[in-house]
Amino acid sequence: MTQSCDLILRNAIVLTMDDQLKQYEPGAVVIDGDHIVAVGPEPDLLAQYAAPETIDCLGRVVMPGLVNAHTHIPMTLLRGLADDLRLDVWLLGYMMPVEREFVSPDFVRLGSLLACTELIRSGVTCFADMYYYEDSVAQATAEAGLRAVCSQTVLKFPAPDAQSYEESLAAAREFITRWKGHPLIVPSIAPHAPYTCTEEILRACAALAVEFDVPLHTHIAETALEVENSRNDHGMPVVPWAKKQSIFDAKVLAAHCVHVDEGEMFTLLHHKAGVAHNPSSNLKLASGFAPVTRMLQLGLNVGIGTDGPASNNDLDMFEEVRLAAFIAKAHTGDPTSLPAVTALSMATRLGAKALHLGHLTGSLEPGKRADLILVDLAQLHNAPRFRRDADGVYAQLVYAGKANDVSDVMVNGRWLMRDRQLLTLDSQDLLTHADEYARRIDTFLVAREKSVLSKLVAIGGATEIESFEVQAKVAISEPALVIEAINQPEIEKLHFRHYHEFDTYFLFDDPRQGTVRYREDEFIDEQGSISKMRYRLTLIGPASEGQFPSDVLLSRSRFLAPATHSLRFYREYFKPNSEIAIEKDRLRWRVLFQGTEFFINLDRVDHPPLGYYLEVKSRTWSRRDAEYKAQVIPQLVLSLCASLEKATKLDYLEMVMTEKSESPHSSGNPQAE
Ligand SMILES: [Zn+2]
Repeated sequence: MTQSCDLILRNAIVLTMDDQLKQYEPGAVVIDGDHIVAVGPEPDLLAQYAAPETIDCLGRVVMPGLVNAHTHIPMTLLRGLADDLRLDVWLLGYMMPVEREFVSPDFVRLGSLLACTELIRSGVTCFADMYYYEDSVAQATAEAGLRAVCSQTVLKFPAPDAQSYEESLAAAREFITRWKGHPLIVPSIAPHAPYTCTEEILRACAALAVEFDVPLHTHIAETALEVENSRNDHGMPVVPWAKKQSIFDAKVLAAHCVHVDEGEMFTLLHHKAGVAHNPSSNLKLASGFAPVTRMLQLGLNVGIGTDGPASNNDLDMFEEVRLAAFIAKAHTGDPTSLPAVTALSMATRLGAKALHLGHLTGSLEPGKRADLILVDLAQLHNAPRFRRDADGVYAQLVYAGKANDVSDVMVNGRWLMRDRQLLTLDSQDLLTHADEYARRIDTFLVAREKSVLSKLVAIGGATEIESFEVQAKVAISEPALVIEAINQPEIEKLHFRHYHEFDTYFLFDDPRQGTVRYREDEFIDEQGSISKMRYRLTLIGPASEGQFPSDVLLSRSRFLAPATHSLRFYREYFKPNSEIAIEKDRLRWRVLFQGTEFFINLDRVDHPPLGYYLEVKSRTWSRRDAEYKAQVIPQLVLSLCASLEKATKLDYLEMVMTEKSESPHSSGNPQAE
């Protein structure tokens, strides 16, 4: 007696990708509703089952759909926006500012629908996403009919969908509550990365993931710099730090894991964390080579992901699987590393396990959801076919197969593509809208790139507060006499500091843009050793001269902010026309003179070797106050220099710099503080 079911796929090379890697040729797959009932040799199943519809697969491969283990699908709309940049400049200088400006539920929906089109066409049936407005990603994915782990991002910066982390955490809770139990969507939470979160955020996200028993999706140890910073800041690499914040209490999906050591791999294994390997992204951003072979040896569930289409720049899992195999061979120097069958297992069964969806998808087995694809191997670029070695078919798929060899895609028992015809989406309309976004983003970036100020604002450099600065500088030869002069009763000393300062000035073609100064301060204590470091970034507006007694300079220092990134980051981001480096030893007094506060700086400029300078200055937020102080400054300078036999006329450091240093920079007016 035959058993009834909805559909039988016959005349196929069936690759189950299960634990034993069972293959059937000719094979059949029996489907009922949303799940697989049986997989096996065609004659057996045809004798056992009867269905209203039987499909002849024409000898094509039937295999589980590919699992894209890590991506940010709405970023299809940012594909090709900024390339060939370092990760921090790319992410913090371009992606995040553009996202803050443009990402909305509409943007996310459009980007997601476009991505789903691309994913279905290339044989992906399941993916793990991480983005903002994840509700719109989930909505679009469900409409397209794909399966996904959708992770709502939480991070310490204001995000497009939340002003604060508390807000995004609340949104994540609501999102998870709404989608929990959906047949296609598994909601999840994504603390973006340990370095973009705080301890508090990591702990709160872990607690939420545990409370709802949903995956926690994050980026771990993507770059060597991240690990170096983690060691410096926390005294340990990224995985133990994340563990300390309890994130491994949750079901973790860790993207990248490029720079993890053996101990960290064991931690991931012990906590059953899944790993998403992203070969294209790691290559393109020069992040390094993840120790994939070792992770697999240890028994970690390592899936393969494309990462976002802005860092890849596509969602083609066929390319990704091939690269995963190739890179592992090149990295280990061993061509037997990561054979085709393993690479394909990573893109199917292991990937599903990494997403904590191994019980639902990733292989063709009775009871699992009917998530499968048909792949046509009888293409010119993949001929001929050898049958002697059972693994030959995996090599065909991995080394010569192409995304457009996928002819049919089914998810949860529903066809999403038949004979290369999409059944749930229409891409033409989507592409027109995407072009519109590209035009608007181009306009935004063109305007921003013209202004150093808006570039600074874009990376959250500072808030816009205009301050006025009055200052006078004198070149001196006898610093001891000035120190003595400071002791006179007319000058009341309030505070003293000793620093070593390293300044880098970025100069731009248009002097009206001002000058960006990156300053490292070493605080020197009484014993002469460094007690702490400080990094500051200042945008110094062009100086306005001539409105004050001739020897006093007024400058408008519009921005002052802690420099949270490296000098290299700012250099690559601001792309200055030229630079000036100045190194000096500074004694600094805060004093009261004629009832007004001033700073007296006694500088020894070591690089370029310009000798000693006396600088008297004051910063104020009121123009009238600045005008008053500008009148007092010359008197204070004279009282400090009167005893000098060689009191020079007031002179500005930048004038000296252009005369004495051999730097070719004639434009720009860096006023050293
Ligand atoms: Zn990513």
